[in-house]
Amino acid sequence: MWFKKKIEAKPEDKLQLPDGLWAKCEACGEILYRKELEKNLWICLKCQFHFRISCRDYITLLLDDSQFDELDADLESDDPLEFPGYKKKMKEAQQKMHMKDAVVYGLSKIGGHPIVFVAMDFGFMGGSMGSVVGEKVARAIRLAHEKEIPLIILSASGGARMQEGILSLMQLAKTSAELALLNQKKIPYISILTHPTTAGVMASYASLGDIIIAEPGALLGFTGPRVIEQTIGAKLPPGFQRSEFMLDHGMVDVVVSRRELRNTLKKILDIVWKHG
Ligand SMILES: [Zn+2]
Repeated sequence: MWFKKKIEAKPEDKLQLPDGLWAKCEACGEILYRKELEKNLWICLKCQFHFRISCRDYITLLLDDSQFDELDADLESDDPLEFPGYKKKMKEAQQKMHMKDAVVYGLSKIGGHPIVFVAMDFGFMGGSMGSVVGEKVARAIRLAHEKEIPLIILSASGGARMQEGILSLMQLAKTSAELALLNQKKIPYISILTHPTTAGVMASYASLGDIIIAEPGALLGFTGPRVIEQTIGAKLPPGFQRSEFMLDHGMVDVVVSRRELRNTLKKILDIVWKHG
C-alpha cells in the first residue's frame, strides 16, 4: 500500500528539494541554486522564466529608495455571505503573508516622479479580488486623481474572490468607473501584468492601462486555456494567452524583463509626465 502510494505521487511531488537551498523552474524543470536565483531577481538562469515574487519584492525593485508609504494597511474583509471556511482561510493567509488582504497601495516615487503605486500579491489567496482589494484599488485611483499624479498598478490575480460572491463582481465596475474619471483628467495609468493575471482583474483595471506592460511568459486572459479548449472543442495555438501572444494581438504594449522594469517605468514617466 505504501509502495502504491509512492508510485501514484504527482510528478512535482517526486522531487523533494532540501529546504531553502534549491528551487525548481516550473517552465524548464532546471534545478537552481536559490541564492543565484535571488541575485538574478528570480528569473530562471536557463530559460528566463519569471518566478512569482511578492508585492514587497516589487516595492524594493521598482520604487525610488525601495520606499513606499503604505495606506489603509489595516483594511480587512468581512465575511458578508458567511461562506463556509472563509474566515479561517483569511486568517491563515494573513498570518502567512503578513498582510490583511491581497493588495497594498500607497505613495512613492519612480525616477523622482511622485506616483500612486498598487501591487497585488498572488500568494494571498491567489491574489483574488474581494471587496477589500477592490476598495483599495478604487481608493488608490481616487488618490491619483486628487493629487494629480500618475498611477501604476501591478497585477497578479486569479480573479474575483468567490467567497464574497456578487460583492467581488461589483469591484469590476467600481474600479473601472474610477479609472474612467482618472482618464477624463488625463492622468496616466500604467498597468503591469505579471504571471498570472486572469479573470475579473484582467476584465477590469488590469486591461485598462493607458500603457500596458507585461512580464515575459505571463499567463494573461479572462478564462484559462484549458476551459476554453473544453468549451469550444478545439485546440488553441501554442503560447496562447502568454505575454508575447498578447503583444502580437494588441492586448499588451510592451513585454519587459523584470531586470528592465524600473528603467522602463522611469522612461515612460519622463516622456508622458513632465510634472513634479
Ligand atoms: Zn527555467
